[in-house]
Amino acid sequence: MKISCDVVTDLLPLYHDGVCSQPTKKQIAEHLAECERCRSLLGKISNTTIDNKIKAERDDVIMHQAKALNMRVFQKIGAAVFTVLLFIGVLTCVIVDLAVSGALTWSLIPISACVFAGFVLTPAIRYGVRGIVMSLIVFSVLVVPFLFVLSLIIDSDGLILAVGVRMSVIAIVYLWGIVAVFRGLWLRKFLALAVSLLLAIPFSLVVNSMLSRVIAASLFDVWDAMAFAIIVVVAAVFVYLDFFLKRRKIQ
Ligand SMILES: [Zn+2]
Repeated sequence: MKISCDVVTDLLPLYHDGVCSQPTKKQIAEHLAECERCRSLLGKISNTTIDNKIKAERDDVIMHQAKALNMRVFQKIGAAVFTVLLFIGVLTCVIVDLAVSGALTWSLIPISACVFAGFVLTPAIRYGVRGIVMSLIVFSVLVVPFLFVLSLIIDSDGLILAVGVRMSVIAIVYLWGIVAVFRGLWLRKFLALAVSLLLAIPFSLVVNSMLSRVIAASLFDVWDAMAFAIIVVVAAVFVYLDFFLKRRKIQ
């Protein structure tokens, strides 16, 4: 049975996608062998499909490249602004200190702090997430030498070193703990945030007990209670968000 051009025209898209039945396919093939008009129509369908695919892929690649470029530009601008701000801060301190006391005295403290912050924060600002671990390594390595320099500038009977070094060790352990939590819960960022926040409670208790032994600070006061309450509430919100997202993914 011969089929008409109209029927073939209607069926061509199905034929092109290879989804029509074997007998239909055979009939259309026979018709196409004889009919120039329908052959050229099939050619047009093929071209449009390929064109669209290429176009979609090209748009996808361009979009990804633009995003990556935007991110890189953003990070470069961030790093530049950060450097300029640090530089302005250091310069202001030097000028004011020289004008008021005729020498570099107290300005050495903010200057050393700026240099320290510059070393520590630059990787994180420049490289984003990848830079955070690098920043943390720099912080872990430089914080004790920094405190030593600070204690030389400010004669504090060793209090800076005594308190500072212990605080830094606690902070380093806490920060690496957060990195470990985020590595472990990479796909559940809200849960990782909640755990990191809750971790702050035992760590601040450790800091309090350490401080209360070195200087006359209270072990636990109303401000701690308030801070802990806020932490628990915010963590609960993150845990809820985590379960909400998980349920939506499953459904
Ligand atoms: Zn035809």
